[in-house]
Amino acid sequence: MLALVLLSGGVLTVDDVRAENDRVQQLSRMLAAEEEHDQVQQVLRLGLGEVTRIAERGQPVPAAARARTEDALRRFAQDPGVMSVEALAALHRLDHDRLTDGGEPLARAVRTAMTERRAAAARFAAIGGDLLRTALTDPAGIKPRMPGFLAGLKRLEHARSELRLRLVRGIDVEVSHNARKMQRSIDRVLLGGAVLLLVILLLATWLRRRVIVPIAEIADRLRQFNAGQDASAVVPGLDRRDELGELARGLAEYRHAMVERREAERRVAFLAHHDMLTGLPNRLMFEERLAHELARSRRTGERVAVFAIDLDEFKAINDRFGHAGGDSALKRAASLLSKTVRTDDLVARLGGDEFAIIQVARDQPRAAEALLARLFDALARTAQDEIALRMSVGVAVSAPDLAFEELYNLADMAMYRAKSEGRNTARFFDDGLKEEVRLRWRLAHDLEGAIERGEMYLAYQPIADADTLRVEGYEALLRWSHPELGEISPELFIPLAESSGGIGAIGLWVADRAMATAARWNRGLSLALNLSAIQFRHDRLAQSLLALADRHGIAPSRLEFEVTESATLLGVNRTAALTALRALQDAGARVVMDDFGTGHSSLGNLREFRFDKLKIDRSFVMSMLDHAPSASIVRSIIALGHSLGVPVVAEGVEGREELAALRASGCHQVQGYLIGHPARMAEERCTVA
Ligand code: C2E
Ligand code: CA
Ligand code: CA
Repeated sequence: MLALVLLSGGVLTVDDVRAENDRVQQLSRMLAAEEEHDQVQQVLRLGLGEVTRIAERGQPVPAAARARTEDALRRFAQDPGVMSVEALAALHRLDHDRLTDGGEPLARAVRTAMTERRAAAARFAAIGGDLLRTALTDPAGIKPRMPGFLAGLKRLEHARSELRLRLVRGIDVEVSHNARKMQRSIDRVLLGGAVLLLVILLLATWLRRRVIVPIAEIADRLRQFNAGQDASAVVPGLDRRDELGELARGLAEYRHAMVERREAERRVAFLAHHDMLTGLPNRLMFEERLAHELARSRRTGERVAVFAIDLDEFKAINDRFGHAGGDSALKRAASLLSKTVRTDDLVARLGGDEFAIIQVARDQPRAAEALLARLFDALARTAQDEIALRMSVGVAVSAPDLAFEELYNLADMAMYRAKSEGRNTARFFDDGLKEEVRLRWRLAHDLEGAIERGEMYLAYQPIADADTLRVEGYEALLRWSHPELGEISPELFIPLAESSGGIGAIGLWVADRAMATAARWNRGLSLALNLSAIQFRHDRLAQSLLALADRHGIAPSRLEFEVTESATLLGVNRTAALTALRALQDAGARVVMDDFGTGHSSLGNLREFRFDKLKIDRSFVMSMLDHAPSASIVRSIIALGHSLGVPVVAEGVEGREELAALRASGCHQVQGYLIGHPARMAEERCTVA
């Protein structure tokens, strides 16, 4: 502000100075006019001198001299001392500025001198005129008039020099006044500039200290914070009341929200990667870690062992000890596994009663064997507990020729082998298993288009009344005659068709061919078809099957659909399966529970769905003579059928003794090599028992 006042003062002074310069010019012009008048005065004086000298000598005055003098007189009388408008204005402003010359106001001094000079000039002009006339008319009158003429001249000279002096003084005063003003104005401008510079400097310093430095600090915190460091450090400027304070508080709030979000993300990430019950890493984390370890092992030359672990008899534990008992068994298993492995190994729970371990070591499979030894030692120590822990373990070790993604599947396969070999044991995935896997991959591949290539056909196995052995129907069994590998068991290729999804089309093809064949049979004979769980994914399965029956002219009451309970009542398509089965029953078909006795909690399932027939699994029938528990299972199932009012059929009947035992227990139907092997049956041929 001060700087601006000073600067504008300076600039205004410059205007002032310009005006004063004008006045100096005016005064100079007046001085010049005075000079000019003085010149004319000289000419007039010389002219009068010449004319009077000639006249006093008595000579006639030449006309030229007379004319020159008269002209000078006229010019002299036109006194320029009559002040111009500009001159008056200049003087007026001099008044205004109150400039003085030795105490007397300058303008008044000039004016007074001017008035005096003009009066003296007028007087001198009158005297000069009188003298000229006298010289022309009366030369004798010249002499007495001379003293008056000289006195007028003297007065005029005096007044003029007085005026000149005043004007020069005026100019002098103006100029020096002007110079002072000019100096002052320059001083002011310089001072203003300096003040302005100082203000700018101060402002810059203030800006730096109060704004730029805090902003930089806040930005710095933000950067640190985004980099995940120093989340607890105080944000500077929180207590400020200005916009920067707002910014700082905003940052603090943002940081708080971010900390919470990161915390939530960490929690979600933990939940996403861990199993809640046991706190172990889950399948997702297992897969991530396995992929990571496999990629790393390629570089380090170490080998990765994967352990697929299944808790033995977990369903039984659940049934006996309830949900809580099952949970506690899982937790104990988790802690036992965690204690058995080294810190670098990973133990994961993949779901249900499935666990897995990833072990990376240079010395494989020795490291895996050592781990297994420790594991089974620890398991043996639980033998005395209320719930003893037992596990089946499959191990696969990475190798250069092994597809990495398959490592877990191989371990899993080895684990199933261990289970089938008597549980509570371990098995490595070896060359034999490798061969099996190769064969399976090949079959899965060859299965596609097998029907179209005519490699599939159906065999029919009779089902007979237990007492009379009269054939009451046939079960259709699928056969695959591989062009190179020969006959392939449905127990091998049906699961492959199930996992590829091909079973849907295959199942309908079986139903179509079997019905075409059955259409030629005696109408009293029933047709039994096996349905796989996967087929229930086709939501119009029942409608498709009934439409086929209709097309082939088979009454639904002649049809029996065999399903395993794990497929229908425990499977993921449970609801869809039950709806489809109900639809088949509603149309008059019968639903048979196949392989009864091998599943779990069978009795519970019987209450949920009303089966029309129970088929005792052949494993019980075939071992009932020399294995007492099997015999008692067979008898219980038959008794159960009686109490539920549902007929029971026994499959796998190979000998007369089994037949006798079954008859004695009241079994309704029998099926097995004793009655008849599955055999081809031409569609055209009618087989009647
Ligand atoms: P399943 O339904 O339990 O079929 C009975 C199996 O026992 C048949 O084996 C049959 O050949 C065999 N068998 C019958 N009587 C005796 C006997 O006295 N002694 C012995 N040792 N075995 C006997 P197969 O044909 O190998 O079929 C195996 C399984 O394949 C079937 O078990 C069934 O689950 C499945 N399967 C067969 N055909 C089809 C089909 O068309 N669709 C579906 N979804 N599954 C089928
Ligand atoms: Ca069957
Ligand atoms: Ca069966």
